[in-house]
Amino acid sequence: MAKKKAVIDERIAKATEERGVVILLKGNGKGKSSSAFGTMARSVGHGKKCAVIQFIKGRTETGEFKLFKDHPQIDWHVMGHGFTWETQNKDQDIEAAKKAWQLATELLSDASYDMLVFDEMAYMFKYRYLEIEPVVEALKNRPKDQSVIITGRVMPEALEEAADTISSIRDERHAFRLGVKAQAGIEF
Ligand code: ATP
Ligand code: MG
Repeated sequence: MAKKKAVIDERIAKATEERGVVILLKGNGKGKSSSAFGTMARSVGHGKKCAVIQFIKGRTETGEFKLFKDHPQIDWHVMGHGFTWETQNKDQDIEAAKKAWQLATELLSDASYDMLVFDEMAYMFKYRYLEIEPVVEALKNRPKDQSVIITGRVMPEALEEAADTISSIRDERHAFRLGVKAQAGIEF
């Protein structure tokens, strides 16, 4: 135990840098968005200013949206009437993705925001609605103390290279496949 403690103490002593981080939450398991908003709640508890861009608008309002939308430390943006799961109009989706990205670039150059959550942003690259290069560039040039959390099942390689923390959530089992209906407070 003493040996273990010495190793950990040494690692703690080496981690001296103070700056914001880019966190990617990926994989097919459940827990990406809920982890992102849980971390944001943690920041809010410490008095930090946060913003959310939801790149995919679900069919139902989520509990986290209802809880956080009017919070004075949080700005919550839902991407237009663009991309949804039942998307019909590709041009309209691209237009909405570009608008959301425009907003994201503004947030990424505003040092008053401590934390940004880009929920389901990864889909924008998968469907080629957004190019990855300007996103990586903007992440690199963001204010030093600003942290960014991006969720999505599959992340582009360039985004992973730019990230500080990557957690992959593996799908071992999901109640849905046991026949349990999606429920408020668990799924959304
Ligand atoms: P959560 O919002 O619960 O943290 P998530 O962000 O990891 O989930 P998404 O890929 O965004 O997952 O999926 C959105 C919805 O699908 C959520 O309601 C989530 O509970 C559900 N879901 C996530 N993973 C699975 C899965 N493996 N099988 C079935 N449903 C899933
Ligand atoms: Mg999600």
